[in-house]
Amino acid sequence: MPKRRRVTLGLGGFVWLASTRALLADTLESPKAAGYTDQHGTDGDVCATCQFFRPDHAAPARAGRCQLVAGPIMPTGHCYFYARR
Ligand code: SF4
Repeated sequence: MPKRRRVTLGLGGFVWLASTRALLADTLESPKAAGYTDQHGTDGDVCATCQFFRPDHAAPARAGRCQLVAGPIMPTGHCYFYARR
C-alpha cells in the first residue's frame, strides 16, 4: 500500500513539473515582440545592467538568459522591458 502511494505522488509531481515548465516557457516574451536587439547604443542601457539579465558566469561576454525574453540574450542587447539594476 505505501509503495503504491509513492508511485502516485511521483507521477503527480512529474505532471506538476512538466506543466510548470510549459507555463514558464509560454510566459516568456519573444525577442521580436519585446523589441530585442543584440547590439544597443552606448548609453549603458544594455542587458548586462538590466535586473532581468542572467549572465553566463563561465563566459560573461557570451549570451546569457533573460527572465522575461526567450532565447539567448547578449550582454550588449536591449529591449522594451529594460530596467536598470
Ligand atoms: S528585459 Fe530586455 S533589456 Fe532586460 S535583460 Fe531581458 S532582453 Fe535585456
